[in-house]
Amino acid sequence: MSRWIGKAISVLLAAVLLTAAFPLALADGVGGVTGGEMENITWILDENGVLTIGGSGTMPGFSEDLGECSPWYGEAVTAVVIENGVESVGEEAFCGFDSLTSVEMADSVTYIGESAFANCRNLESVSLSKKLRWVDRYAFFGCAKLAELPIDDSLADVRAEAFGNTLWLQNQPEGIVYAGRVAYTCKGDCPASVTLLPGTKGIAEEAFAGRRVQRVVIPDGLTYIGNAAFSASSLTSVVIPASVTRIGSDAFEWLEGLTVYGYEGSYAEKFVQDDSGIIFIAITGLCPHCSAPLTEESIVRVEGTPATYTQTGLTEGTRCAACGEWITEPQVIEKKPIDFVIGDISGDGALNIGDVTLLQQYLAEYFALDLEDEKTLLQADFNGDGKVNIKDATAMQRSLAEIA
Ligand SMILES: [Zn+2]
Repeated sequence: MSRWIGKAISVLLAAVLLTAAFPLALADGVGGVTGGEMENITWILDENGVLTIGGSGTMPGFSEDLGECSPWYGEAVTAVVIENGVESVGEEAFCGFDSLTSVEMADSVTYIGESAFANCRNLESVSLSKKLRWVDRYAFFGCAKLAELPIDDSLADVRAEAFGNTLWLQNQPEGIVYAGRVAYTCKGDCPASVTLLPGTKGIAEEAFAGRRVQRVVIPDGLTYIGNAAFSASSLTSVVIPASVTRIGSDAFEWLEGLTVYGYEGSYAEKFVQDDSGIIFIAITGLCPHCSAPLTEESIVRVEGTPATYTQTGLTEGTRCAACGEWITEPQVIEKKPIDFVIGDISGDGALNIGDVTLLQQYLAEYFALDLEDEKTLLQADFNGDGKVNIKDATAMQRSLAEIA
C-alpha cells in the first residue's frame, strides 16, 4: 500500500472517529469552523484557515508509520497558533502543509517533534517559544522560504537536519553555523581547529559528522553533545568542560584515535572510561590566550628571582607551551628593607671605631669578611662605590669625626 493511500485511509478514519467523538457543531464544520480534541489538547480551524491549538500538556505525535495522521491533515491550514499551556508539537503534526505560511508558538512549548513542520514549503514566519529546549530531527527540514529562526537561549538540544534545506541555513555565512546557542553544523569547509563561541550551550546531533575538523575546544557552560556529533570526522583532540552533563553514546564513533582533555571527576572522564578506545588526559584549565588545554606538560615554569637589599625580585611564572603567553605572570617582590646600620661591621647596632678597626684588619688580611653576602658587603662598602678598600675606612673615620 502506498503511503498516500495509507494516508487517505487514515484521514478517512480520522474523519469518522472525529464525527463520532464530536457530534457537536464544530466537527461538522458549521460556519466553516471545525475542531476537536485529543487527550488534553484542543484544536479549532476557522474559516480563514487559522488553526488554533490549545489545552495543556503534550501534543501526541502523528507518525505515518502508525497510520495516524493529525486530525487536521488535508485541511487548508494557512496559520497555526499554539496557545499557552501546550508543551510540545507532535511528530509530523504539520509535515508537508503547503498552504501553511505562519506559525505562532506560546512560551509553554519546550519540544518540537520529529518532522513537525518538515517540507512546509511556503512557511515564511515562525515565532518560537522562549522556553524551547529540544528540536527533533527534520523538524523544519525543507521549509525553503523560512529565512528567520528566532531561537532563544533556552535551546540546547538540536537533532540532525532539524533546520536542513531552509532559507535560514542557505543564508548563513560559511563556517560554524549556530542555531541560537547550539553549534548546528559546519557550512562549507570546516576549519581543522575549532573553538566554539563562549556561551555555546549544545552541539547538535551530527554537527561535525564526517567533517575534517581535528581539534575542538568546547567552552565552559556547554551542557550537551549530540549523538554522532563528531562521528567519522578527523577529530583527534577535544577539550570538554566540566559543565557537559550529557554526551550522545555515539558522539565520537568511527574516529581514529581520540584524546579527550577534561577535568578530573567530570562527566567527560566517566564517559571516556566507558569507551576504552579514547584516551583521557586530566587538565587544570585552558590557556586564556589560545585555549590550549593546560596540563603539567603543557606549562613552562619560569623561575623567579629573589629580592635583594638593592634590587627588586620576581615570583615564579608559568607560560603556555603552545602560544608562549603568560598564564601566571611573575609578580615583583619589593627590595629587602635595610634594617641594619651601614658600616656596622661588628653587628652591634651602631657605627663606631671598632668597625673601622675590623675593616682595617680585613684589609690587612687578619680578619675575614664574607663579601658574597649582600648584607656584609653593604655594611663594609661604606662609601657605596661597590668596592671594599681603604677609602671605606677613611670615610668611616670622617663620619665618626663629624658625629663627634
Ligand atoms: Zn596559549
